[in-house]
Amino acid sequence: MGRRWGGRRAQQIRAELEATLPAVCWRCGGIVTAAMRWDVGHIIEVDRDPDSAFDVEAVAVEHATCNRAAGAAYGNRKRAVVRPRWTSRDWTSREW
Ligand SMILES: [Zn+2]
Repeated sequence: MGRRWGGRRAQQIRAELEATLPAVCWRCGGIVTAAMRWDVGHIIEVDRDPDSAFDVEAVAVEHATCNRAAGAAYGNRKRAVVRPRWTSRDWTSREW
């Protein structure tokens, strides 16, 4: 199990990135200012390399909206699992 994102180290990384603002969003290439909502983006997917989550070289500023969009795309893939539709006949014949 890898370390979860969060805690004091995550706050330090966010503070380090905040000091670089305004900066370029690594996802869309647009500018991110301190007045905008922004998130710490992981250039290397944490799933693939858990240790990089706490490496300041592996993170970058991204818009909160870009972060949401990426998260939603990931969630949509998860929800793409096809669920069978039961007819009333299936329901009554099913043994529990
Ligand atoms: Zn962006």
